[in-house]
Amino acid sequence: MRVVCDRCGETVEALVAYDDGRITATAGVYISGGQWDRFMRPGEGAVCDRCMQTDPAYMRAYPGTYWRREGHAP
Ligand SMILES: [Zn+2]
Repeated sequence: MRVVCDRCGETVEALVAYDDGRITATAGVYISGGQWDRFMRPGEGAVCDRCMQTDPAYMRAYPGTYWRREGHAP
């Protein structure tokens, strides 16, 4: 599915798995309403990997995870 990131406005290809209407897993995007809310800003519903994994608070919490793509250094 294609999801628009609420932080950078880019459309990203993402996977979101639901079970009984609850989100159980995501790839490519972080969805509000769960454990990621603490890294989200007011009004954000979906944040792409790049934005989340370069967020200072996220990087402090998960220092081993950061966004990588060819040609990009965080
Ligand atoms: Zn983004």
